Amino acid sequence: MSQTTTGILSDLERVLVDADTIQERVSALAHEVSRDFTGCTLSVVAIMDGGLFFVADLLREIDLPMRLHTLSASSYQGGKETSGDLKLTWPPDLDLAGQHVLLLDDILDTGITLSAIQARILEQNPASLRTGVLLSKKRRRIREVPAEYVGFEIEDEFVVGYGMDYQGRFRNLPCIGILRPTS
Ligand code: 5GP
Ligand code: MG
Repeated sequence: MSQTTTGILSDLERVLVDADTIQERVSALAHEVSRDFTGCTLSVVAIMDGGLFFVADLLREIDLPMRLHTLSASSYQGGKETSGDLKLTWPPDLDLAGQHVLLLDDILDTGITLSAIQARILEQNPASLRTGVLLSKKRRRIREVPAEYVGFEIEDEFVVGYGMDYQGRFRNLPCIGILRPTS
């Protein structure tokens, strides 16, 4: 019952981005989005579960009318490397024709997830499509993916926290960090 934040943080080898720095950067991204889409109604397509906290914080600071659609994507099957086998749960009645779409995810890594979802969105003929990610890993992409809004560029390391998990845990950390090898 009495697990403290210190208790959860003790599984981290180090903090990569602290909670205040995340909030500042997310606010700055929200202002960019509000400026770039002035006069538009946004259709946000948010990828769950990892994008949950990023999306919740970002959207509350975007000063535009919007609709929110969520879809789930998973390619990790519990490990620290993508399996490359992407499972998508697409909302059956999602119609983005003529919409200004903002696609949001937690991390751009190999690019497999976002390129598949971008292609599927573009098939629906939206008026525009832009993509935002909290983190972009510096690595050679398997698929090149345009992302107009990037919170932080990070090295090719496995991260958890602020929505991102390892085997379902650590999503509730307020910061982004690297796990101890034993966790
Ligand atoms: P991609 O398809 O670009 O290789 O991977 C994208 C997805 O893999 C992200 O949406 C995220 O769910 C997951 N992912 C990639 N790197 C990491 C990581 O370092 N930590 C966690 N928890 N998930 C990751
Ligand atoms: Mg994901």
